[in-house]
Amino acid sequence: MPARILSGTEIGQQIQAELRQEIETLKQAGVTPGLAAVLVGDNPASHIYVRNKIRACEALGLYSERLTPPASITTGELIAEIEALNRRPEIDAILVQLPLPKQVDAQRVLLAVDPAKDVDGFHPINVGALVANRPALRPCTPAGVMELLRRSGIPLEGQRAVIIGRSDIVGKPLALLLMHAHATVTVCHSRTRDLPGVARTADILVAAMGRAAFVTPEFVRPGATVIDVGINRLEDPAAAERLFARHPERLEEFRRKGSALVGDVHPDVADVAGALTPAPGGVGPLTIAMLMANTVQAARARRGQAVAARARVEAVR
Ligand code: NAD
Repeated sequence: MPARILSGTEIGQQIQAELRQEIETLKQAGVTPGLAAVLVGDNPASHIYVRNKIRACEALGLYSERLTPPASITTGELIAEIEALNRRPEIDAILVQLPLPKQVDAQRVLLAVDPAKDVDGFHPINVGALVANRPALRPCTPAGVMELLRRSGIPLEGQRAVIIGRSDIVGKPLALLLMHAHATVTVCHSRTRDLPGVARTADILVAAMGRAAFVTPEFVRPGATVIDVGINRLEDPAAAERLFARHPERLEEFRRKGSALVGDVHPDVADVAGALTPAPGGVGPLTIAMLMANTVQAARARRGQAVAARARVEAVR
């Protein structure tokens, strides 16, 4: 039986609909959550990501702005821009789009973001809170994966989860979130021995490595849930012919556009997995939804007193 498809697009829309109501309530209390996206230089993929994030903010009625310092900016100049955002009361959330240019010390820049406005959850204070399972802003992609699993009714407690990829942005924080949800977690990486064998022990297998279609059916225990975090641009026609041999509609799309976005999971995994996220249309929309959720959470945490006071006034009236 082919895998159940876990549509991130649908779940992302559900979350956004819930957020729209919450934002409306906040606005009635005089608070419009605000996000500032800092986009350094002219990396085309980063421009597309930031454009999509700003569009999502606009669609939900959040305040948003985009700062676009030049690629030649120094670490000190960028930190000064971030400190100015830290001081602005109407900005609840600051996003620094990665990667930063080589001359910029990304660690120092991320440290400069006020932890209360750190919408990506990358500041060491928020990383520490995640390790200790204390409330704080969580990195959007791992938080999105958790929301997708939860809303799809995939059990986690006592389940074996295997994550391929140990990055600070995806693999590592997701391992902690799954552990806090009582899964038994294994984290694999480029030096793991017998990767397919380890992956086959998983009830929940997460591919977050950035290698197009690397995870083939031999990695997957029949019936397992497979979450594909990878986003890779495929441009080689021969590779596309092989990959999409049984998916004529995707091959057709590749021929039309000259490229295609593919995940880390091979399309044939759908024959073996019990449930599978599509790529695109899986984890990506959840990342955006969680960015919006984190912006609202940051606004509530920073300006909650104002909202509560306003609600009290309304109640008396
Ligand atoms: P990264 O390059 O920082 O980390 C990749 C990890 O995969 C590393 O830990 C590495 O050890 C591991 N890895 C690489 N090759 C491997 C191999 N052959 N065998 C085993 N492990 C291997 O990447 P990242 O930032 O974590 O992103 C991973 C993928 O997820 C990328 O395709 C990225 O575009 C995508 N991504 C998607 C979203 C989304 O919203 N859907 C968000 C962030 C990242």
